[in-house]
Amino acid sequence: MSAVRAGILVTGTEVITARITDRNGPWISRRLGELGIDVIDILVVGDRPAELEAGLRFMADGGADLIVTSGGLGPTADDLTAEIVARFAGVELVLDEGMRERIERIVARFARTRMHFDPEALQASTRKQAMIPEGAEAIDPAGTAPGLVVEPANGPIVAVLPGPPRELQAMWEPVLETRAVRELLDRADAYEGATLRLFGIPESEIAQSLREIGAETDLSPLEITTCLRRGEIEIATPPRC
Ligand code: ATP
Ligand code: MG
Repeated sequence: MSAVRAGILVTGTEVITARITDRNGPWISRRLGELGIDVIDILVVGDRPAELEAGLRFMADGGADLIVTSGGLGPTADDLTAEIVARFAGVELVLDEGMRERIERIVARFARTRMHFDPEALQASTRKQAMIPEGAEAIDPAGTAPGLVVEPANGPIVAVLPGPPRELQAMWEPVLETRAVRELLDRADAYEGATLRLFGIPESEIAQSLREIGAETDLSPLEITTCLRRGEIEIATPPRC
């Protein structure tokens, strides 16, 4: 097991109702695994404050050092992640004036190509997206919403990323470059993985062999998973099935 544990909180009512398939949870999980971070959970919750909050709390209580969230950073009423993460960290949301100007420039480029943007609505949504939990590091937007790295006084670091996969992926490297996440990565140990591919041996016999080996040798430092696919059984350590 790695010294650093992370949880992934995927938000979006469209994901839990299966209108779209989650692409962010698996993508973030692979990136964290490559960095030697133990992923303890991928939770998918709807765009409701109580569920977002419960998701953060659940992973914090489960011992996560880092929580990565996806979605809910846009300008609409159901985009709540920044507000909930600020509350979770016990800080206020404050206007980041530099970020507001940056978003204004991005939106102005976009608005020029469309005819019917109401300037007041545009101003309000720009302002909402520039509200940052006090003390957080803001990540420049790949779309219009900044990402956030929030470091609560007590509790896991929370990295907040937007929902659209293209934006989320573009903002991943800058998250890793923040001071808080760099310090965490220094503690992570990329642990060795190995995959044994077995053919023609039933899973029950592998289980029996592992029990026999386990009776003589301490296997507890290993995390062994078995996975049946393409007529073969794979045993992977750590789980990469
Ligand atoms: P926006 O400013 O676009 O609203 P956002 O950060 O608020 O960004 P969401 O509102 O949660 O993100 O999602 C916006 C869109 O991004 C969704 O409609 C969907 O197309 C895509 N998306 C969000 N989450 C996921 C996901 N987990 N997997 C795949 N696509 C997703
Ligand atoms: Mg949204």
